[in-house]
Amino acid sequence: MADCLFCKMVSGEITPDTVHEDDDILAFKDINPQAPLHVLIIPKAHIATVNELSDANAATVGRLFLAAKRIAADNGLAGPGYRLVMNCNADAGQTVFHIHLHLLGGRPMTWPPG
Ligand code: 5GP
Ligand code: ZN
Repeated sequence: MADCLFCKMVSGEITPDTVHEDDDILAFKDINPQAPLHVLIIPKAHIATVNELSDANAATVGRLFLAAKRIAADNGLAGPGYRLVMNCNADAGQTVFHIHLHLLGGRPMTWPPG
């Protein structure tokens, strides 16, 4: 998608602070971190929101979570814990319309979220 910020990261037009990349997935540091570790994990394929997911995306979505748990473990967060969040549309606060899994960790968090 030409106008999509995260597609520009996938294509290399914009260079993020990458922490993981493979055939299907890119993971990079959030530019405005909300925790000591704040990584965004995205599929390389453009999917605007969770509402657009189909069975064909099931494996890719699974890989987002597997990448998240590896990155969390690599940063010493498997024991202390961390939060995984995917916002969908306005009420959840989604601002970039290319799905991304937020990995947040390194501090205690409250529940429910705001
Ligand atoms: P959302 O609100 O859509 O769930 O999350 C979008 C996230 O993208 C936000 O946490 C925001 O800080 C992050 N973000 C927005 N623009 C950029 C950017 O240019 N680079 C990086 N690394 N993160 C960005
Ligand atoms: Zn995109």
